Amino acid sequence: MSRVLIIGAGGVAGVVVKKCAMLPEYFSEIHLASRTLSKCEALQKEAGKDRVVGVYQVDADHADEVAALIRKVEPALVINVALPYQDLPIMDACLETGVHYLDTANYEPKDEAKFEYSWQWAYHERFKEKGIMALLGAGFDPGVTNVFTAYAAKHYFDEIHYLDIVDCNGGDHGQAFATNFNPEINIREITQRGKYWENGEWHETAPISVREDLDYPNVGVRASYLLFHEELESLVKHFPTLKRARFWMTFGDQYLTHLRVLENVGMTSIEPVEFQGQKIVPLEFLKAVLPNPGSLAEGYTGMTCIGTYVTGIKDGKEKTIFIFNNCDHAMCNAEVGAQAVSYTTGVPAMIGASMMLQERWMQPGVWNMEQFDPDEFMERLNKYGLPWHVVECESPFKR
Ligand code: NDP
Repeated sequence: MSRVLIIGAGGVAGVVVKKCAMLPEYFSEIHLASRTLSKCEALQKEAGKDRVVGVYQVDADHADEVAALIRKVEPALVINVALPYQDLPIMDACLETGVHYLDTANYEPKDEAKFEYSWQWAYHERFKEKGIMALLGAGFDPGVTNVFTAYAAKHYFDEIHYLDIVDCNGGDHGQAFATNFNPEINIREITQRGKYWENGEWHETAPISVREDLDYPNVGVRASYLLFHEELESLVKHFPTLKRARFWMTFGDQYLTHLRVLENVGMTSIEPVEFQGQKIVPLEFLKAVLPNPGSLAEGYTGMTCIGTYVTGIKDGKEKTIFIFNNCDHAMCNAEVGAQAVSYTTGVPAMIGASMMLQERWMQPGVWNMEQFDPDEFMERLNKYGLPWHVVECESPFKR
């Protein structure tokens, strides 16, 4: 039985729904639920009613609502592409009903801009006892970057020592300021303090304060800033030989100037303010006035380049490799009507789901992507739209 229930109907969900719809051999039946029913109906129309056979309204902040829906649909797997706030209620519903779970971003409490795996890892024993599996962070970063790291460790090194994950969007959407995925989650992520792992401990940096100018294949040189990103937490745990692990993301000057102004005037705050007798959260209001990331696809040009630099030891000698993917915004739009950031997240989620349903990756408990054998997942990336390359190179980073 390979019936899936997808929760969320935003930019990433659009890609997951359409890619799953193209693959009836993996996904026999697709059901789609989200907070706003009309968005599910629109996606159902695009993907075809013969493939997306049911659409439902659900508030996934409430585990009991999700559990009731799961009982009605009886899926084998729930794909959570709503927001990180919903991770725990959806995991609770899966536990209650005995259904497998997959997501693309780790849990984050709504009233605190802090994300970490502790809350979800705490479900491991309960998932194991129930005989169900949760696959966490099955997007691109986290997700593919974890698998790239596992692939490098398996095939290229005896021991890995230095990891630098680099995420470049070399595209142009023609807007003065927009985020490429949910603005609230995105801005919470990049305005928090930077953090990296070195010599067995975390080191913090001021937000967007450490810069390297890196040369990205098929994009060129881009200013890249050190951020904390969730896959670092699981990768340093699962690859204890790592001496240092960092994450870098590119931002243009125009983007950073807008962000700085918005921060300075208080628009990125998550503290509620009183406005005309109502409490509003400035960042939630900002989201409402920014372009919907799903709407950026039309006319978006250029490419993303996301990859991992890994330095380690092979046969007693140190070497560095770079594993990366380039993804073209216009190609994604032509294929599924999405921009590359939604596409690079949605395709791995679909592949992760297919790996679980086909029992290629299937073990009761709560797992991160790097804990499974990477080879077949890597093959499926090539097959389903995210081809990757490996080059042996000099590390662009100083030590
Ligand atoms: P969007 O904001 O476009 O979509 C989110 C969807 O979730 C919307 O349809 C929204 O409904 C729905 N939703 C929100 N709250 C609820 C709720 N309480 N109950 C039911 N549905 C709800 O976000 P994206 O598609 O850009 O991102 C989706 C996820 O993917 C996020 O968790 C994001 O962090 C993650 N992501 C992961 C990446 C990776 O590489 N790992 C990269 C990019 C994103 P409504 O329309 O009513 O608001």
